[in-house]
Amino acid sequence: MPAGGGWWRALERGSSIGCEVVQLFLKNCRQWAGRSPRPEEIRRFSQARSDGRFHCVFGHAGYLINLAGPSSSQRDRSISSLIVELELAAALEIPFLVLHPGAHLGQGESAGLGQAIRGLDEAIRATSGSPVRVALENTAGQGTCLGAPLTHLAAIFEGVESPRRLGVCLDTAHCFAAGHDLRSPRGWSALLDEIDRRIGLQQLLALHLNDSRAGLGSRVDRHAGIGEGKIGAAAFRHIVRDPRLRNHPGCLETPKSADLHEDVVNLARLRRLARPDGSSCRRRPSSSGIVR
Ligand SMILES: [Zn+2]
Repeated sequence: MPAGGGWWRALERGSSIGCEVVQLFLKNCRQWAGRSPRPEEIRRFSQARSDGRFHCVFGHAGYLINLAGPSSSQRDRSISSLIVELELAAALEIPFLVLHPGAHLGQGESAGLGQAIRGLDEAIRATSGSPVRVALENTAGQGTCLGAPLTHLAAIFEGVESPRRLGVCLDTAHCFAAGHDLRSPRGWSALLDEIDRRIGLQQLLALHLNDSRAGLGSRVDRHAGIGEGKIGAAAFRHIVRDPRLRNHPGCLETPKSADLHEDVVNLARLRRLARPDGSSCRRRPSSSGIVR
């Protein structure tokens, strides 16, 4: 949810369309600058949180942050920016921040993973005692981005000093673009089994429920509305009904306009698919792949 006008506005926007989970950027996602919240802003945020019916409110770190690149002023800024965001999250009582593992920018995967591990260690050390966790998001693997194979996330968990400050956020569109065919219940189940084997399912903190405009294994990151992409609505039925994820928060990161009408539609589709009796979701998708 956009947080323009104040962090609490993201929660108000979420409440206005019946969200139980809200993900928000704590800073302008494409700018470095950030600042500490004023007491009045913290008060309004917690008021908006208690006014809503939220199961979980979590943050997404800015897109400029890249811990995996070669040492440079850009990487130093990334580390300090992550520290500021972790402090902000703590002030707003946000339990975790979703973070992309970063791009190695040509130095190679293992060097990039080493940088990501050291960068995380620095940020976590600087915020020691903070309850805020960093939820590493799996990626589509576009360009030199790390985090498409689950082995990358596992290596980061193994390498950091405080793995208890980490978690995982699973993005369905990224999984698909990275080559995990989650369209069948079997493929989805195999993916969760792999997470469990490599990292531990207990580390999974949240889901990004996005369809994908890009094909299976394309390594291209293009989100689509639920049932409007190559994953298709049927897959989200076994995803949102998976008993292993019963209490996991999930959010949409699908294309949307300022009036949020697409979110309303996508949310209704997911809720319909989640209904255990399967009412009205047994209908076949229309030729466009859209279930209405
Ligand atoms: Zn995502």
